[in-house]
Amino acid sequence: MTTSKAKSKTQSKSKSKSKASSKPSSKPQTEQHVFQAEVQQLLHLMVHSLYSNREIFLRELISNAADACDKLRFQALSDDTLLADDAELRIRVELDEDNNTIAVTDNGIGMNHAEVIENIGTIARSGTRQFLKDLEAKDADQAQLIGQFGVGFYSAFIVAEQVTLETRRADQPADQATRWVSEGTGEYTLETIERAARGTTVLIKLKDDAKEFAQDYRTRSIIQRYSGHISFPIQMLHTPPKAEDSDVEPTPEWQTINDTTAMWAKPKQELSNEDYQNFYQSLAHDAKPALSWSHNKVEGKQSYTSLLYVPEQAPFDMAFNRDERSGLKLYVRRVFIMDAAEQLVPRYLRFIRGVVDSSDLPLNVSREILQENELLTKIKSAVVKRSLDMLKKIGKDKEQYLKFWKQFGSVLKEGIVEDHANREAVADLLRFPSTKTEAGELTSLQEYVERMPADQEHIWYITADNPKAAANSPHLEWFRKQGIEVILMGDRIDEWVMGYWHEYGGKSFKSIAKGELDKEEQPELSEDDQKLMERLQKLLDGKVQEVRPSRRLTESAACLVLDEHAMAMHMQMMLQQAGQDIPGSLPHLEINLEHDLVQRVAGADDAQFEDLGQLLFEQAVLSEGGQLEDPAGFVQRVNRLIA
Ligand code: ADP
Repeated sequence: MTTSKAKSKTQSKSKSKSKASSKPSSKPQTEQHVFQAEVQQLLHLMVHSLYSNREIFLRELISNAADACDKLRFQALSDDTLLADDAELRIRVELDEDNNTIAVTDNGIGMNHAEVIENIGTIARSGTRQFLKDLEAKDADQAQLIGQFGVGFYSAFIVAEQVTLETRRADQPADQATRWVSEGTGEYTLETIERAARGTTVLIKLKDDAKEFAQDYRTRSIIQRYSGHISFPIQMLHTPPKAEDSDVEPTPEWQTINDTTAMWAKPKQELSNEDYQNFYQSLAHDAKPALSWSHNKVEGKQSYTSLLYVPEQAPFDMAFNRDERSGLKLYVRRVFIMDAAEQLVPRYLRFIRGVVDSSDLPLNVSREILQENELLTKIKSAVVKRSLDMLKKIGKDKEQYLKFWKQFGSVLKEGIVEDHANREAVADLLRFPSTKTEAGELTSLQEYVERMPADQEHIWYITADNPKAAANSPHLEWFRKQGIEVILMGDRIDEWVMGYWHEYGGKSFKSIAKGELDKEEQPELSEDDQKLMERLQKLLDGKVQEVRPSRRLTESAACLVLDEHAMAMHMQMMLQQAGQDIPGSLPHLEINLEHDLVQRVAGADDAQFEDLGQLLFEQAVLSEGGQLEDPAGFVQRVNRLIA
C-alpha cells in the first residue's frame, strides 16, 4: 500500500465519478489516492493518543491558516496583484450546529493541486519510516511520541468523521481550485473545482462524540485560549440583538474575537505564562508545553524583538537530521519573512524555537541577502547568547536541566566544535556522569574541577560506545583505587568532540585509555615476565603494537591502550564500518601480571599458549565494547578451554 511521493500520482486511479455537476463541459475528475503508508500510521496514532486533548485540532488549523496568511502577505510585497480586491487577511471559523460541522477558512496563499498532494497526502520528512517502526517496536507512550512528531493538519481527524479541504492558490484562476476529501482511513480523493475566493477552507464533519465543537460558546473559548495571540483577525459570526423598535431579524455579522497585536510585540508584563505556552504550542505544533522561554526587546541603533523557546521534547529526527532547520521565524516589522533558523542560530542550537522580529531589515530581503547581512549577523550572535543564557538559567534547577539534557545534550555538545567564540559558555552547560556521581546524576565540568585535589593536573575522562561500556571499562580500575574521579563519556559524539577540545578552565583533558599513565619508572621485570611479554608479542604480531605490563589494572587481566592522539577504538570501528578509510593505529596490550589468567598463560605449553594468549587479547577488545574479527574462533577457543 505504500505510495511514495513520486508514485502517488501514477497509482491514483483517475476515474470520473458520476457526481452531479452543473457543468457538463468540464467533467469533474475525481482522483482516488491512497495515503502514504506512514500517513495512515500517523493518523491512527494521532487519533488514539491525543484523544484526551481533542480541542488542539483547532489550534493547529488556525495556526496553519495564519501561516498561509503570513506567506501571502510576504509574497504580496513583491506582487500586490496577489491580494486582488481582498487585501484584509483573516481567518474565519464557521459553525453549523444542525449539520455538525466546523469550517476554518483563510484568505491566505492557498495550495495548487500538486501542493495538496505533497503537503496533505505525504509526510516528506526523512526518518519518518524509521520513527514509526521504532514506535511499533516499543511499547511506547504514544502521546509522548506524537508530541515528538509534531501535530498538524492531521489532528483534524481526532474529531472528524470526514475532512474536506478546498483550496485555491493566490496565483491560480478560479476554476483551478482543488478539493481534497478524506475520512482518514486509507484514502483521499482529489477533484478540480471552482472557488471564487483564494485561500483554504477546512470543513470538518464532526464525529458524533465531538458535536461540542459545533457549539459557539465552546469553540469561541477554545480559540481565545489557544489562538488569542494570532496576529490576523480570527472571526466568527455574531448575531446582534434585535432592536426593540424593529421587526427585522438582525443578520449575523463577522466579529473579530482575538486581539491581533503580535504576541511578541506586547510588553512582557502583559503576558501570562499561559500566553507564552499557548503561543509556543501553536508556533511549534508541539503537544507539550515549552520548558523555558526568553523574551527580549532591544532598542537602539538596531531594534529587534526575540522570543525564544526551549522545547521539553526533541523532535524524533533531530539528533540525526542536522539539517532540520525550521522553528525560528524571521519577521520584519510584524511581517513574516521566512523560516530562518539557518540564518539565526548555529546547528548545535537547532532545537531552539521562536520568532525574531527586526525593525531595521528591509522587507524585501532574500535568503541570499540574509546570508551576509551585517544586521542579521549581529542579531544571530545575540540570539546565541540569549539561548545559552536561557540554558544556564534552566541549569540552576538540576531536575529541570536533566530533562533538557536528556533531550538535547548530544546536540548541544556539537557546539564545542562548532562555536569557538562561545566554547566556554557551551562547556559550562555540558553534563556527564563520572565515577563519583550517583546513578542517574550528572556533573558539570566546573564541579569536577572544584573537586580536583590541588595536585591533579588533568581532567581525566574515558570515551566509549555507550554509557555502560564507559562505566565498566577496565581502564578505570587504577583510578578507582587511587580515588581519582574520571568523567564517563558514553555518548557516540563524545570521541569526536574530544578530538577538538583540549582544555577546560585551564586544565587539560586526558583520556585514561590513551598514552602511558605517567612517566614514573617501570618496575623491574623478572626474566619469566620478560619472556612472557616476548612470546605474547610474537603471537599477537599485527594486532597490537606492543605488549607491556600494566599498572592501571587491578581486577582485569588485560586492556588495550591507545597512543596519546589516536582515535578511540569504537570510533575507528564505526568509521571503518561506514566505509571510511582511516589510518588505523594499533593499540598496545597492557597485561596485569598478577592476574590468575596471565599466570596460566605464562605456564602454558605451546598449544594452550596460543589459545590463552589470543583470548587475553580478545577479552581486552570485548571489554572496550569492541567487536572481534573472528568471533567463531573465539568461541572455539573458549570451548576448548572449558572442555
Ligand atoms: P506543518 O504545518 O507542521 O508543516 P501540517 O500537517 O499542519 O504540518 O501541514 C502541512 C503543510 O500543508 C503545511 O506546511 C502547509 O504547506 C500546508 N497547509 C496546511 N494548511 C494550509 C492552509 N490553510 N493554507 C495553505 N497551506 C496549508
